[in-house]
Amino acid sequence: MNKDNDNNIELKGIYEQVMMPNYAPADFIPDRALGSKVWDKNNKEYIDLGGGIAVNSLGHSNPILINELNEQANKLWHTSNYLANEPAINLAKKLTDLTFAEKVYFSNSGSEANEAAIKIARKFHYDRGEKREELISFENSFHGRSLLNVSLGGSENHKKGFGPLVSGVKHAKYNDINSVESLITNKTAAIIIEPVQGEAGVFEVDKDFLKSLRELCDENETLLIMDEVQSGIGRMGHLFGYMKYDIEPDILTSAKGLGGGIPIGATLTKNDIAPSLSTGTHGSTFGGNPIACAVANKVIQIVSDPTFLNEVQQKEELIMGSLSDIAIKTKAFSDMRSSGLWICCDIKQIDAFDLLNKCYENGLILVTAGNKALRFAPALNISEDEIQQGLDSLTKALNQI
Ligand code: PLP
Repeated sequence: MNKDNDNNIELKGIYEQVMMPNYAPADFIPDRALGSKVWDKNNKEYIDLGGGIAVNSLGHSNPILINELNEQANKLWHTSNYLANEPAINLAKKLTDLTFAEKVYFSNSGSEANEAAIKIARKFHYDRGEKREELISFENSFHGRSLLNVSLGGSENHKKGFGPLVSGVKHAKYNDINSVESLITNKTAAIIIEPVQGEAGVFEVDKDFLKSLRELCDENETLLIMDEVQSGIGRMGHLFGYMKYDIEPDILTSAKGLGGGIPIGATLTKNDIAPSLSTGTHGSTFGGNPIACAVANKVIQIVSDPTFLNEVQQKEELIMGSLSDIAIKTKAFSDMRSSGLWICCDIKQIDAFDLLNKCYENGLILVTAGNKALRFAPALNISEDEIQQGLDSLTKALNQI
């Protein structure tokens, strides 16, 4: 392609001029997509095994979701929180029917869902007359980019220069109960944990550790918050990750895959905790938007089907089997981990972003985890053909680098 008629380059040039430099996107610009296929401005085809970082749970332009979106768009777009709306009520009903939770608060993103969770936890203790403000999160965790969430997160790079941060946060070692025991006090309001540390490279929580963590929270009257923003909505082969272990959180946060690509966040809790978010104490202009909730209702209906969740686990096995073959042939990976359709390959020697660019050249979209690992979080309804096509492109990329 000659540079003068390269539509990607032209648009990317404008991007550089007008967008803040906080992201470093690929040189191609997606134009349209269907299922797990994406076409760029030059009509080049890609297989999407990144799934918009675990967001496009039912693939791109899913006709069933488009139908829900259109039907709702023709009825009611926005009401303000002075008025309730039917899709939000139905979605909260579904989420409470299907989980440990009895009450739901809607927002627009994972960061906002976590913000609400922490506010509820601190306020819960305050309402009981206890001054418990401290929070425990984990090293290498990721909870979002608001000031609260970077304070909770484990990355120094995300905090540098943005201080003062939210005070009262301590970081324990993931899967190390002694480390949590050494930090918990009668001032600890809540512990927030991801069932799988996704951004860190798909590291799953140890079942016994999680059980001990639950017990420790109960003994200390500390609330256990599970950040299921990335792990929830079928990603781990369960509707929510906590369902894989024999424990329940006090508060759970969801976003990403919940809207299948339409922005929505949700904070779920029990009847004894929810009253702390009393009228007027918290809110969001767009939270509980009828269009987002209508789409999320359909996503939940499809993903919560046990047959669908079983298929997620089967596809995990299929991808892991093929990746093991690729690892033997190319000797490119030093380790591989998976939890449902959420997979990470640690790569030897090569920089992850160089490999990612090679994948793009070969028509494959993936994401990284740091600069030493490739992450897969494809649509949960991806077909076997699309998986095969994507992995063939990965093999080509690895052979070329
Ligand atoms: N929590 C977890 C575990 C996440 O993976 C993310 C995003 O990657 C967030 C929170 C933040 O979500 P959002 O980017 O929607 O604010």
